[in-house]
Amino acid sequence: MKVVVGLAELRLARESLANPMGLITTMGFLHEGHLSLVRRAVQECVSVGVSIFINPAQFGPTEDLDNYPVDLERDLDLLKAEQVDLVWTPTEAAMYGAGYQTWVEVEELTRYLEGEIREEHFRGVATVVTKMFNSFQPNRAYFGQKDAQQAIVIRRMVQDLNFPIEVIVCPTLREADGLAMASRNSYLNPDERRAATVIYRALSAANELFNTGEREADGLRAEMVTLLRTEPLARAEYASVADPETLEELHGPLERALLSMAVFIGETRLIDNMTVGEERGSYAVDD
Ligand code: AMP
Repeated sequence: MKVVVGLAELRLARESLANPMGLITTMGFLHEGHLSLVRRAVQECVSVGVSIFINPAQFGPTEDLDNYPVDLERDLDLLKAEQVDLVWTPTEAAMYGAGYQTWVEVEELTRYLEGEIREEHFRGVATVVTKMFNSFQPNRAYFGQKDAQQAIVIRRMVQDLNFPIEVIVCPTLREADGLAMASRNSYLNPDERRAATVIYRALSAANELFNTGEREADGLRAEMVTLLRTEPLARAEYASVADPETLEELHGPLERALLSMAVFIGETRLIDNMTVGEERGSYAVDD
């Protein structure tokens, strides 16, 4: 496994990797969720690259950029064990040098959910993913359903900007008690860790309600809110029932939906989602 820091080194190393090449973009502090994407890429591609870069452009001024967990040595050990070919760990100065002024904006899909609250978050994501795509020139790129809106935004961007890249969205990996794996789970103390299971319980309750026939968006939303209120350490920022393609909030009867939420558990902000109803193509691809 080759580990490179500079762009010139990356391009050189990439030249000797055979296609199809799969890419997984990450912010490091890897867990089984990340590794599930890596494993899928290793299975489906001839070569695999991973980026590790904590992208400042996708953090707001009051967010956790300075405290974001880091363990590069462990990350590299994990990736090596998965037979990854190439890892890029660019510096912030190289990614956003003096005079940097070019940004990628996906317009409508970023007005909702995470985009409504985290201003400029998706501008940062779309820009860094574009830079990763241009640098690695992968044939396929793997993203997690855990960040459902991100996956939808990237799919749109790839289509709109003619990137010759297949986007593959992989299922959310969860802990045994349902908590979606996330680097930020490492912030939780034991009480908070227990409390955090309310997120999965709230999504599951709404999913269950849908499966027993509830088709009103407001009923599903109320179910999630009711569950979230039972946990004193949880403070929901939003609990949404949205159109899985446009991400617009739904009211009234529905056939399918993206159930999603952002919840503070103490100081830690966690997101999670589930889809209900028949899939209609592009928003999620499971095994
Ligand atoms: P991050 O390091 O948080 O930027 O995540 C890198 C990639 O891993 C993104 O495509 C995420 O959606 C994906 N990912 C993060 N957590 C999970 C999880 N629990 N299950 C599946 N994919 C995940």
